[in-house]
Amino acid sequence: MVKEDLVRIGLEVHCQLTKLKSKLFCNCSSDYRGKGPNTNICPVCFGMPGSLPVLNEKALKYALMIALALNAKISERMLFYRKNYFYPDMPKNFQISQYDKAGGMPLATGGRLSLDDGKIINIRRIQLEEDTGKLSYDGTIESSSTTYIDYNRAGIALIEIVTEPDMNSPKEARLFLQKLSSILEHLGLCDPNLEGAIRCDANISFGGGRRVEIKNISSFKEVERALRFEITRQRNLVSKGIEVKSETRHWDDVRRVTFSLRVKEEEEDYRYFPEPDLVPIEISNEMIQQVLSEMPELPEARKRRFMDRYGLPSQTAEVLTSRKALADLFEKSIELYPNAREIANWLASDLLAYLADTNKEIESLNVKPDHFAELVRLIDDGVISRSLAKSIFIEMVSTGKMPSEIVKGKGLEKISDQDYILQVVDKVFKENERAVKDALMNEKAINYLMGCVMKESGGKIDPNVVLQIIRQRLDQIRSVR
Ligand SMILES: [Zn+2]
Repeated sequence: MVKEDLVRIGLEVHCQLTKLKSKLFCNCSSDYRGKGPNTNICPVCFGMPGSLPVLNEKALKYALMIALALNAKISERMLFYRKNYFYPDMPKNFQISQYDKAGGMPLATGGRLSLDDGKIINIRRIQLEEDTGKLSYDGTIESSSTTYIDYNRAGIALIEIVTEPDMNSPKEARLFLQKLSSILEHLGLCDPNLEGAIRCDANISFGGGRRVEIKNISSFKEVERALRFEITRQRNLVSKGIEVKSETRHWDDVRRVTFSLRVKEEEEDYRYFPEPDLVPIEISNEMIQQVLSEMPELPEARKRRFMDRYGLPSQTAEVLTSRKALADLFEKSIELYPNAREIANWLASDLLAYLADTNKEIESLNVKPDHFAELVRLIDDGVISRSLAKSIFIEMVSTGKMPSEIVKGKGLEKISDQDYILQVVDKVFKENERAVKDALMNEKAINYLMGCVMKESGGKIDPNVVLQIIRQRLDQIRSVR
């Protein structure tokens, strides 16, 4: 077991502002997924001579929302810089980005996000920049002899969030990303479910050694895996007395290993120049107030509201608000049937367990709030037992059938309708006069009548209620004699 304080992890998260219709500096559509390669491009994306970038104002507003949600300090003035590098994913050999050194001013600095156990992860800076093109290979990056480039993605608005190396384990890194993702979902600016919408680089050092950067990890699960692999690799080197090199590594999520891409380029390797085609942007207090007034409820506030208004335990409220889709499902379900605690439990435990087991997302299920409201109503009304509800639940989420439909289809309904039971009892009494006579004298003969009633009803009525009604009937017969 690695002592936690030996490991230091920092993250650099790139989130696409997927709600935007156009790119950051031009009118090209930001909807590039599934489009033919290099069809969403223009002279501005390519930095052609004479073309001028124009800042998408909505992108700035959305970026401010994210910075405010992360409690960061907004710069009064921000500048765009050209980050110069020669690499095929940048058609103009520079990326319009921001810079926090040498007079550069990113959108925001500082900021923090607290994990559920109260641990604070500090944020170094938040900046607005354009995405790069996308490279793809025949097979793997190592073995492919060809690199394909699609520039449709180049110029999409990205928010870069850089943390301090405050995380001490791969699990903490995953928890940070989950919290961040829930905030972005609640803001409605970035849909984390879209392929490539949130990407992550991680840097990690072990035992005070050199920093290794792992590039372009595609999902949160992969972040945890890549970091675990890296800790093992670095620990093995250290134990053999080999120095860990400062380098950039690539995570291969098929083979689940990292491998060296290049010896780490430091920031000095990039030349940053102020972007001459974009003026400095003043961010006024009025602008911030305006953005604040338009911000939707964030997960922390929603969690507190779930606890206060619906009496949910902190743990359950935390789980529900960890994903917007789950929290929304909860609120819509209790509008239909207000047993908040019971519905919360089904969602926070059974539903999440089902999703984990089947590796599915909530959005892919064919269930709506009605399903959960009805399931809990059937339990509360005594129509189905809790253990029966468990199997109905599984069928409900896997098929999208309503619980009542499943109950009927299987003949699972317990009939507790008194009139119906009386009818059946009377019928059985009429057909079995001999047995009734026996039962009047001998308690044991009641069992025979019970059996007849249960058979007549197909076993769907509550035996306790039947027994009670048979006794009442026998008493009535005794009293008229
Ligand atoms: Zn363009």
